[in-house]
Amino acid sequence: MAGIYLDNNATTPVAAEVVDAMLPFLTEHFGNPSSPHRFGDGAARALRQARCQLQALLGAAHPAEIVFTSGGTEADVTAILSALGTQPQRREIITTGVEHAAVRNTCQRLAREGYIVHVLDVDGRGRLDLARYRRLLSPRVAVVSIMWANNETGTLFPVDTLAEMARAAGVLFHTDAVQAAGKLPIDVQRTRIDMLSLSGHKFHAPKGIGVLYLRRGVPFQPLLRGGHQERGRRAGTENTAAIVALGKAAELALSRMDYDMTAVAAMRDRLERGLLRTVPRAFAMGDLDNRLPNTLNIAFEGVEGEDILLSLNKLGIAVSGGSACNSGSVEPSHVMIAMGIPDAAVRGAVRFSLSRYNTTAEIDRVIESVPPIVKRLRESSVRADPDSGADFPPISRTTPA
Ligand code: PLP
Repeated sequence: MAGIYLDNNATTPVAAEVVDAMLPFLTEHFGNPSSPHRFGDGAARALRQARCQLQALLGAAHPAEIVFTSGGTEADVTAILSALGTQPQRREIITTGVEHAAVRNTCQRLAREGYIVHVLDVDGRGRLDLARYRRLLSPRVAVVSIMWANNETGTLFPVDTLAEMARAAGVLFHTDAVQAAGKLPIDVQRTRIDMLSLSGHKFHAPKGIGVLYLRRGVPFQPLLRGGHQERGRRAGTENTAAIVALGKAAELALSRMDYDMTAVAAMRDRLERGLLRTVPRAFAMGDLDNRLPNTLNIAFEGVEGEDILLSLNKLGIAVSGGSACNSGSVEPSHVMIAMGIPDAAVRGAVRFSLSRYNTTAEIDRVIESVPPIVKRLRESSVRADPDSGADFPPISRTTPA
């Protein structure tokens, strides 16, 4: 589809190489990987290969540590419920106030069921208070679930350190790495992470396929029981074509990681500089020195992010007004609220998320397109309400002016 796609934290286009790899598994190699005949053998071989490709992406010790799931949400929910189910005497959970709905809503449900959920605050840049985290770790805690990278701001949490601290306290550590996997180097063997979730559609594989990394020896209880698939850890006939696609996407991500980290970050920085230079009263949000290479979240004071989004959409430019999974709702972003960003700025937030398939020419078109849109929207809101903008609450800048 023609247009400029800068909403890659919501989902990514499937890479051509990935489509080529998966198509035969929808046609001639249609066998059930559990079938003991040649059709099944071919599918089973493909699963083994994909498992090794995921093992390589994560630096896992063994392919059996990879459990295929229906996506990031299932992996997150499985990890948390498994930790609770295998340690019934432990009734506490530690998480943060900026998690994706997959973790956030699960924890809220568990709190209603009587578990004690400790929600860590973040500061204005989205950073955690490690001292409070250390104080909360205790033998009463069943699991820590903290994301690697935030989907809205790209802010990275120090998961290595957090996992190390959890291990020292004898507490299981899960990370939602859905936004980090495929974008940043991950080497789970060099960390103390026990469980990690990833999702294919965030790095150029199709939707509906993901992984729960499960360190060998970590106690586990399946969410989906029934068949023996995935060594009894996730019942249901494997989605072979999507798993093959995920394996290929993992291989591509690994081979292109250096390019993606530098070239994509350079385009993101160009976009940030271009917009902050030309649009007055705009600032970037998040931990700017420590964020995903592809993510930029800018608050445009005095305008609605949704209006910018709609105007850009008319020009064929796709961005997001907040969390992807929140779009369509007018709920203010819980991530921005947790960061203490004033409501008026939260409403003016626009997330630009890039991928290796963007070009500098596209970025330059966006840099040209945004300033007149913001200017027009500000002028029309002043006409509609002459006081608007005049008393705009001051915003503590998270970026140098
Ligand atoms: N976790 C994070 C941080 C995400 O950004 C998302 C998707 O937006 C998910 C989990 C859910 O992944 P999936 O869409 O594969 O269920």
